[in-house]
Amino acid sequence: MQSFLVGGAVRDKLLEREVHDRDWVVVGETVDSMLAAGFTQVGSDFPVFLHPKSKEEYALARTERKSGKGYTGFVVNSNPNVTLEEDLERRDLTINAMALDQNQQLFDPFNGQKDLDNRVLRHVSPAFAEDPLRVLRVARFAARYHQYGFQIAPETALLMKQMVAQGELDHLVPERVWKETSRALLENDPDIFFETLRACGALKVWFPELDILWGIPNPVQWHPEIDSGIHTMMVIQQAAKLTDNLAIRYAALVHDLGKGLTDPAQWPSHREHEELGVAPIRALSERLKVPNDCKELAIMTSEYHTHVHRALELRPATILKVLNQCDAWRKPERFKDLLTTCTADAKGRAGLEDRDYPQANFMWEAFEAANAVAVKSIIEAGAVGKNIKLRLNEKRIHAIRDFKQRYTGK
Ligand code: ATP
Ligand code: MG
Repeated sequence: MQSFLVGGAVRDKLLEREVHDRDWVVVGETVDSMLAAGFTQVGSDFPVFLHPKSKEEYALARTERKSGKGYTGFVVNSNPNVTLEEDLERRDLTINAMALDQNQQLFDPFNGQKDLDNRVLRHVSPAFAEDPLRVLRVARFAARYHQYGFQIAPETALLMKQMVAQGELDHLVPERVWKETSRALLENDPDIFFETLRACGALKVWFPELDILWGIPNPVQWHPEIDSGIHTMMVIQQAAKLTDNLAIRYAALVHDLGKGLTDPAQWPSHREHEELGVAPIRALSERLKVPNDCKELAIMTSEYHTHVHRALELRPATILKVLNQCDAWRKPERFKDLLTTCTADAKGRAGLEDRDYPQANFMWEAFEAANAVAVKSIIEAGAVGKNIKLRLNEKRIHAIRDFKQRYTGK
């Protein structure tokens, strides 16, 4: 059987990156001959099989021709005459269109190796324009390989722009957009994904609430970078340095959407952007079907990030209010994630990337002090009904006050 290692595995091997999954293409076979050889068929859109031992994916070489709008309208041809080159030609980028045979011989009809060496993301053929998902894929690869110096080829960038201008991105389904976005958020340089989408106009299509942040100013004393869009990109850079947690990275991305709804007459001030952010975060999250944990942390960050930044100036009763409203008691991990997101927000400012952010620890220790108050002792002291809650709040405020005195030495 003629089988070739293809796609990401070849690319990442040549880049000396860890290879996660290995995809194979088989030439000259049919569904029947594959089944006879002990492979099991998976996937219904085109013939893909699992190897009887390795369980790796083997696909019959195929061509694809666009037959309608959007992502699904393709006519697939996988007859045994389809060549390896034809199969590689239907792929998105030249660096993804190389194959290795059993003797480790590289088959590279579209000069993927050269583009890999020159750090270029370039489309294989004009058929690239037939699948709008490829715009998101290129943006995601740009985010992943930015660390090696990859750039998008000018002709590919132009094609992406044209696809967006022709409304092709409208045909994507939310699930695919979120899948690419969530993967991109977890890449090394997630900001590059959003910058790439912005450059081709796709950000406006699927993330309009985010797109409008560019051009909205902030007070220079808090934000040397001034621009809200640039600030947002800096915040996800910082979040990416701090954590691999998807919810935190998403919350970092959308924490300032409220600044798109403040009164321009009041700029660069953004009073109440914390509350104003809730609606656009909901709208974006619901449009993309973002998981609840991401959405909830994002909304909480919008509402409370200014409180956390001012943690050391807050009255103990206000600190308790924040803890209550965030339900830190039942969801301490989520509260910790809020504090990490706030840390990214504080550091995501030009020239302030290395600043200290004691507010996060301060809030966490205030929480621990308040959480150490035992409800049992309140009940044992004779409180009943509503009074239990009242006494608990009082005692927690005392605990926070004591902690604060110890912390500040005052
Ligand atoms: P990753 O490391 O993210 O898995 P990958 O390149 O392996 O990257 P896959 O989604 O696993 O990406 O797809 C395997 C290969 O199939 C790609 O390398 C590419 O050649 C091709 N491919 C996948 N999706 C598309 C698409 N939408 N359009 C064109 N080619 C695609
Ligand atoms: Mg892959």
